[in-house]
Amino acid sequence: MDKAKKSLLRGQFIEIIGDLKHYIAYQKSLGTEFLPGAAKKIPHHQPTLTEVRRELGECTRCKLHLTRRHIVFGEGSEKARLVFIGEAPGEDEDRQGRPFVGKAGQLLTRIINAIGLRREEVYITNIIKCRPPHNRNPQRDEIATCEPFLNKQLEIIKPTIICALGTFAAQTLLKTDEKISQLRGRFYGYRGIKVMPTYHPAFLLRNPYKKKEAWEDIKKIQGEYTK
Ligand code: URA
Repeated sequence: MDKAKKSLLRGQFIEIIGDLKHYIAYQKSLGTEFLPGAAKKIPHHQPTLTEVRRELGECTRCKLHLTRRHIVFGEGSEKARLVFIGEAPGEDEDRQGRPFVGKAGQLLTRIINAIGLRREEVYITNIIKCRPPHNRNPQRDEIATCEPFLNKQLEIIKPTIICALGTFAAQTLLKTDEKISQLRGRFYGYRGIKVMPTYHPAFLLRNPYKKKEAWEDIKKIQGEYTK
């Protein structure tokens, strides 16, 4: 190798070492530890629901922030084994900042109580956290923007069962266009969680003759819950 090439390589080597030093200093400033031999595992911080709510902040990630009054994040137990997921906040929920507090919510509370549970023991949330104007259906971009927060909630709670309330929740979770009448009554998988789709309580209020089928679905959830 001639002298010029050797000197060039030496220069490049020194540059790489310099970069490496900077990289290690930067990692140390972030708290990364470098140990000789076996790599030490850095404990992974498991966020809480409060932290996820804080991360969501006064969200302006989609256009619904222009018309909503309150973000409806969800409520219930961080350790719930059963999570109910609806579509989106309605007028009452938007006003109060709490999920399922209107007429449909009162029916949902009765359903929860009927299987021997209290609202505080389960977790209740929606696919999207802000009310769409005039209760229109959530749009694709709104769901896509909100979905990471639903997934973070589920990662923290780690429920064994999800009850998907209505077409929207069921179709969004199960990534399908099938009707709720076709989907209901059977368990499906979502990220390792058992999902039971059933009719939305608002639909049951308008179609009380469908309550019998919904009750069959809820009893299957109860059976799985008490296993
Ligand atoms: N309908 C929903 O889907 N969610 C609510 O929170 C209230 C009504």
